[in-house]
Amino acid sequence: MKNDCIFCAIGAGEIPSFKIYEDEVSLAYLDINPFSFGHTLVIPKAHSANLAETSDETLAMLVSRVKKIARHIKETLPCDGYNILQNNGEAAGQSVHHIHFHIVPRMAGDKLEFVNSKGDMAALQALAERLKM
Ligand code: AMP
Ligand code: ZN
Repeated sequence: MKNDCIFCAIGAGEIPSFKIYEDEVSLAYLDINPFSFGHTLVIPKAHSANLAETSDETLAMLVSRVKKIARHIKETLPCDGYNILQNNGEAAGQSVHHIHFHIVPRMAGDKLEFVNSKGDMAALQALAERLKM
């Protein structure tokens, strides 16, 4: 665990999150400032900053979790499709330097712009209950 890393602290349960999935090595929770309804982040509990720093084994584990969680989101929400995003470096929009995959649910014709909205905490809590795996 890396000191001062917010996603390590979430992974260790030291700060709260709108968790929807957890196992020994990974965690998925709602993005607090979502691009779209159901926007979810999937992280490994072990710290690594980005794609290049993450072992192939951890990446394979993470992608299998992303696949499982995305399928669950698509089956549970009104959701026609989804984008998987993974930003590396500030130039690419990475703001938290603990690797994470974004699952961004999409609706047909939504013309989504990938801009963070201000999350409504009560709505996120209710959504996390609905999506809990
Ligand atoms: P990135 O820009 O790829 O680094 O994505 C970081 C994402 O983490 C952003 O979409 C933020 O809204 C989200 N985020 C930051 N802090 C938290 C938090 N405490 N809980 C959930 N999501 C967060
Ligand atoms: Zn970390």
